[in-house]
Amino acid sequence: MEPSSRIRAILGGGASGWEVVHRARRMQRQGVRISDLTVGQHEDPTPAPILEAMHTSAMAGNTRYSDVAGSPELRAAIAERAAAATGAPAGPANVVVTAGGQAALLHTFMATLDAGDAAVMIDPYYVTYPGTIRATGGVPRITPARAEAGFQPDLDALEAACTGARALLINSPNNPTGAIYSDETLDGVAEICRRHDLWLISDEVYDGMAWDGPHRSPRALPGMAERTVVIGSLSKSHGMTGSRLGWTLAPEELSRFIEIYALNATYGIPGFIQDAGLWCLREGAGIEAGLAATFRRRRDVALNTLAGRQSVRLSPPQGAMYVMLDVRATGLSGLAFAERLLEEAHIAVMPGESFGASAAGHLRVALTVDDAELARALGRLADFAETLVAERAEAGTA
Ligand code: PLP
Repeated sequence: MEPSSRIRAILGGGASGWEVVHRARRMQRQGVRISDLTVGQHEDPTPAPILEAMHTSAMAGNTRYSDVAGSPELRAAIAERAAAATGAPAGPANVVVTAGGQAALLHTFMATLDAGDAAVMIDPYYVTYPGTIRATGGVPRITPARAEAGFQPDLDALEAACTGARALLINSPNNPTGAIYSDETLDGVAEICRRHDLWLISDEVYDGMAWDGPHRSPRALPGMAERTVVIGSLSKSHGMTGSRLGWTLAPEELSRFIEIYALNATYGIPGFIQDAGLWCLREGAGIEAGLAATFRRRRDVALNTLAGRQSVRLSPPQGAMYVMLDVRATGLSGLAFAERLLEEAHIAVMPGESFGASAAGHLRVALTVDDAELARALGRLADFAETLVAERAEAGTA
């Protein structure tokens, strides 16, 4: 018996940075101490008050099937948060609660793409994007954002890619680059969507991690609320990656279709997880601000540690929980560099190539170890890069 061609198609091709992650895990199991800067996940568990809210809700009996689109209170709180953050009005009918931002993406592409429809996405990209689009029968159409342009997409190239497409997917603050789209980029994106009658899927799961000013959502731009789906999540903002709590914020009519898909996909999200999410949103900015401050501080640790280093260039990180390092001066690919760094210095980072061709020769560093360890690891990484550059110069290949 053969599995479906749709499920096979999810795999696609492309480089896999996961080899580095798996190798690091094997080394850890053998007792080797690894500085793990690979996965975008807080080093500490979910904050205790959130777990207490979850426990209280479960013990109070909220363990039955829940409302498929999410509890009315949670949907209202998410809508309020979005309206406050973006200035664009939103109500509970715009929200469907999903199993993390990942399911929100899948639900959204299910609701907006027909088989064979092109969805434009920007390289470098979050690893699941192409597979998620393909899972729905859509065709990812990939357009580059170059390191030299601070990983902002080129609007002319973007517009060319969008011709004939059905949807455009953006992500700001960005994983893996840490870039935040400028006002000019967001205005240009909105203009392209209006001109080509596209759905805009705006992945804003890092909306609370913008370092140089307030987060700006393209949903708030003129004529955009009716064609934009914002992807949200408490995974990163509240250290809840394992709870799987995310949402779509979409026009009301589309939200009803997303709910229909949710009914058939998950039949709702556990009520006690939703109650914990509601507790987070009612609690105010406390926990979220504390977690964001950690990553902001570590961004500065990275900037200070790498200041003046010639062999490693840091793309100015403006948000999210990552920094991108350009190691092209070493002559190695990101993958080869990451493999050698793991073997020789016991530091695990993601090769840029796993996020698309535009991140070739780069490394993505997740800021997920404490400040001292981060400084040590980045210093060691830069020393290693300098050794490679010196060897290259000696061999006359630079
Ligand atoms: N979108 C981006 C850009 C991400 O980086 C991630 C996770 O790393 C997700 C979506 C999915 O997050 P979750 O499903 O945990 O909400």
